[in-house]
Amino acid sequence: MLAETSITEGTFAAALASKDTALAAIDHTLATGEPTFGLCRPPGHHAAVDQFGGYCFFNNAAIAAQRALDAGKRRVAILDVDFHHGNGTQQIFYRRDDVLFASLHGDPDVTFPYFSGYTDETGEGVGEGFTINYPLPPGTSVATWMAALDEALAHIHRAECELLVVSLGVDIFEGDPISAFTFQHVDFIALGQRLAAAGLPCVFLMEGGYAVEDIGVNVVNVLQGFEEVTQGVK
Ligand SMILES: [Zn+2]
Repeated sequence: MLAETSITEGTFAAALASKDTALAAIDHTLATGEPTFGLCRPPGHHAAVDQFGGYCFFNNAAIAAQRALDAGKRRVAILDVDFHHGNGTQQIFYRRDDVLFASLHGDPDVTFPYFSGYTDETGEGVGEGFTINYPLPPGTSVATWMAALDEALAHIHRAECELLVVSLGVDIFEGDPISAFTFQHVDFIALGQRLAAAGLPCVFLMEGGYAVEDIGVNVVNVLQGFEEVTQGVK
């Protein structure tokens, strides 16, 4: 006899709730223009149209971006700062020009998901030029990472994106057990400041982070840095 399955409990229910968290976040930003943080669990950026992986079932950032388009935005940027390439998000929008996908991540030669995230993956058809990848080697300095971020933000600006969805993985933290970048706590404040300087309506959606005791500090630092710029808080 088959076991009964339920969509009201377990992983599937959590994935649905995570997707709804992303939608609530984008809806708030669309309605108010205010920045929003969606504490999505499970994360989403490895989920493609027809594939799950890396603890991801529904692509929360992609769903949020589509909601913004449906609400009238002409072009949305998804900036993925998680240590791992957002292969699912890339796949979903690879042949489209209404969502620009930019990702900074560990070199896929040595890093999950291993098969995507190379610089020559730039989109196809009308989507050509609307995917941009910055694979970076293990141990990359924060200064080098920030320089790549500035390039990505300049690209987003040139493409005239009207809203920024940040796939916020804090597994770029040096103490993260499965990653190899060098962010310290304080560097997340600088990240938030740079994202705010982009000057776009912004939705943060939680992706990865495995240094469990440090996730909260690192996420709050990003949001604090963002707020320092947008609200002039010192
Ligand atoms: Zn990750």
